[in-house]
Amino acid sequence: MNLLEVRNLKVYFPVQHRLFRRATQFLRAVDDVSFIQNAGETLGLVGESGCGKTTLGRSVIRLVEPTSGSVLFEGEDISRLSGSALRARRRKFQMIFQDPYGSLDPRMTVEQIIGEAIDIHKLAQNSAARGKRIEELLKDVGLDPTHAQRYPHEFSGGQRQRIGIARALAVEPRLIVCDEPVSALDVSVQAQIINLLKDLQRAHGLTYLFIAHDLAVVEHISERIVVMYLGKVVELAAARAICRSPRHPYTQALISAVPVVDPDAKRSRIFLPGEVPSPIDPPSGCPFHPRCPIAEARCKTEAPPLRELAPGHRVACHLAK
Ligand code: SF4
Repeated sequence: MNLLEVRNLKVYFPVQHRLFRRATQFLRAVDDVSFIQNAGETLGLVGESGCGKTTLGRSVIRLVEPTSGSVLFEGEDISRLSGSALRARRRKFQMIFQDPYGSLDPRMTVEQIIGEAIDIHKLAQNSAARGKRIEELLKDVGLDPTHAQRYPHEFSGGQRQRIGIARALAVEPRLIVCDEPVSALDVSVQAQIINLLKDLQRAHGLTYLFIAHDLAVVEHISERIVVMYLGKVVELAAARAICRSPRHPYTQALISAVPVVDPDAKRSRIFLPGEVPSPIDPPSGCPFHPRCPIAEARCKTEAPPLRELAPGHRVACHLAK
């Protein structure tokens, strides 16, 4: 069953001219993105820094206002909601941030941080129920409930991320946007947090939109993966298909950079020339053409549509087969 449907979503940020102080250009952070996410699924969102994946994740849950397009959550277009109607829906979608310390108020105890979310949405009938719920949540994320009166700085990075997860869980969401939730953590702690997220998903029927630049992490947790380049989706398929047989030249380059554990496995690295172009003035035709190793003449003028090359495997490339 669809939980989330994103249709032709665009997020353009106005760029002010230095002299005229008015927007003369737009930064196309998300440029006509569409996808469907099933309930209980983890959908990975990957791409280089600046490809628009974080803006897409935030706009899906209305932390960033979409410029156009729609976001259907449980069949309802939440991109049109405002005021109390939006506030009432907000508890169904939460976010876990990359920097667990920066996203936790250092002046609040863990009990206050988690309790605040419960209070805002009036999810406990009295203080005893509130306290019990906080205790349960701390246990769920593997923290000691007797530490509820401690402050964020008294915890390690991994423990702080667990507090952020408990805060997100406190309002019983259906969808959690995980924005690079492990990239600031040590590798051993990364695995613990990923395993915790998987356990919680099973226990609570959660749906994750999992944003990361590390394809190895995304492959491990996701059922399907969306690859973005310059605000657009260039490939979307099952995680295994993306990682074992990528069809878009950009995805192939990303995969070639992932370290291979098996010493006998051979994979030659594909180095892309140049930098990612500016999303303020993206290239014509296929936005990847200035860096594409197999570009041909029409790639400079014709934008490739996202075509379905195999069931559930869509690629935006004229030459992909
Ligand atoms: Fe490369 Fe052309 Fe395919 Fe774009 S459409 S990825 S430039 S081959």
